[in-house]
Amino acid sequence: MPESDPVVIIGAGPAGLTAAWQLVKHGRNVIIFEADPEYVGGISRTVEYKGFRFDIGGHRFFSKSKEIEALWDELLPKEGDMLTRKRRSRIYYRNRFFSYPLKPFEALFGLGVWESTRCAMSYLKARLFPVPNPKNFAEWVSNQFGSRLFSMFFKTYTEKVWGMPCTEISVDWAAQRIKGLNLSKAVWNALFPRRKSTDVKTLIGSFRYPKKGPGMLWENCAEMVKAKGGEIRMGHRVTGLKLDGGLWKVTAVDTNGNEETVTGRHVISTAAMRDLSNMITPAPNPETLASAESLKYRDFITVAVILENNDEFDDQWIYIHDPDVQVGRIQNYKAWSPAMVPDQSKSCYGLEYFCFARNDGLWAMSDTELKELAVVELEKLGLARAEQALDAKVVRQRKAYPVYDEGYSRHVDVIRKELEEKYPGLHLIGRNGMHKYNNQDHSMMTAILCVENIVEEALTFDLWKVNEDAVYSESGETDHSVSGLRNVPRRVSQSE
Ligand SMILES: Cc1cc2nc3c(=O)[nH]c(=O)nc-3n(C[C@H](O)[C@H](O)[C@H](O)COP(=O)(O)OP(=O)(O)OC[C@H]3O[C@@H](n4cnc5c(N)ncnc54)[C@H](O)[C@@H]3O)c2cc1C
Repeated sequence: MPESDPVVIIGAGPAGLTAAWQLVKHGRNVIIFEADPEYVGGISRTVEYKGFRFDIGGHRFFSKSKEIEALWDELLPKEGDMLTRKRRSRIYYRNRFFSYPLKPFEALFGLGVWESTRCAMSYLKARLFPVPNPKNFAEWVSNQFGSRLFSMFFKTYTEKVWGMPCTEISVDWAAQRIKGLNLSKAVWNALFPRRKSTDVKTLIGSFRYPKKGPGMLWENCAEMVKAKGGEIRMGHRVTGLKLDGGLWKVTAVDTNGNEETVTGRHVISTAAMRDLSNMITPAPNPETLASAESLKYRDFITVAVILENNDEFDDQWIYIHDPDVQVGRIQNYKAWSPAMVPDQSKSCYGLEYFCFARNDGLWAMSDTELKELAVVELEKLGLARAEQALDAKVVRQRKAYPVYDEGYSRHVDVIRKELEEKYPGLHLIGRNGMHKYNNQDHSMMTAILCVENIVEEALTFDLWKVNEDAVYSESGETDHSVSGLRNVPRRVSQSE
């Protein structure tokens, strides 16, 4: 087959577009099928509504990989398009703001005399009588801070995000996530402050951000791919992949129901592993299909509320720890970049709700109901008055988070093994493409290495060895202690 035959890419998110860009730079033909009729960028797109721009989850551009930082410069080269922002985010609880990550001493004394005393007593109890060998997140955090501070500042938000009780979240995640936070040390530091704060290691103080949201960079990348001859078919959902005599026939259906089939030797997929496994002919074996069906995802709703100017907070986002509202986090898009809001006399807050689309009442709610809920909750939290809300827009994101439950890594291994062995020329990259809860840089790095493999006609790089820092690690091991990015909890059974 001549080299001019296209590499077919499923998905125009960061991974798919990075792969396309690297390929066209090598002079290769590419065709991308993107299910979304309007936006490129996947989860990292910028949604636009009446000139207001929303970012799904808030995308900080930060990478420990110089190669990725350089690629971002290449994809958004115009001066002034990429901003450098100082991170501002806090916890909001019962009408007060607290530092994030939590400064236990500040939390203790910000709660009022009565509540602080109760927290202090519960902390003392935990230190004197800790749960021996803590087995889950709830026990570990309660041992560190006392059960009262745990229930205020850890339990509610964690459960909102992951949709599982803290008693089922593994202890190793707690230890990684909250390392460096220690109440006795915090009290000592408050009484005898040191010049330089030794804050928690996992915080990134500043980050870069495209002026018009993350989608701006990916829209530019799409134009650059097209300028070099790459094709992007928007509104085309891939529904079938058939391996026939060493060639892949990839079928996509457009929004009018028309089918199109393209043939190529290589297919790069960023589609969710669960979906992909069910599209392949000849079908994978039943064990693989069962593993694919076992993979779970956490879905995500943003209700962007446009308000008359509201200066309640200037953080880019705040974590909502109050248990009597369902919203988990609130984005303040103007604080990410003023260009996200067309009229500086207005504010726009993105209220974020985490849910399971398959069985969650939140997902089943109509857009009108969700908008009403968002305004009611803003008012309940004291962050805006209902009459200030001028308009709202609901953005739904399926499969925002690949879930790491008890069996996920075994299932991923089963799928990966069969796909690698039985289906030459099929490459899995990106976040849901590899069922890895990772940031853009990691998704992009898997794309870069995948293209190297295709161009070199060799499997030089094992993409599964790219770690959370978007670094290719020969051993495949990740040193969490140096990771500047996020980790995810693992579900444990109650008896573990
Ligand atoms: C709440 C939240 C906050 C985040 N914050 C950050 C952050 O601060 N910084 C950061 O760097 N990253 C962040 N991320 C991660 C970032 O969004 C992802 O790493 C990145 O978007 C993954 O890129 P991807 O191309 O692998 O997948 P996606 O972005 O999911 O793109 C996949 C694309 O494939 C398309 N597709 C899927 N199936 C098909 C099909 N069958 N046919 C055709 N097209 C298909 C989809 O429509 C989509 O456009 C965050 C994610 C979330 C959910």
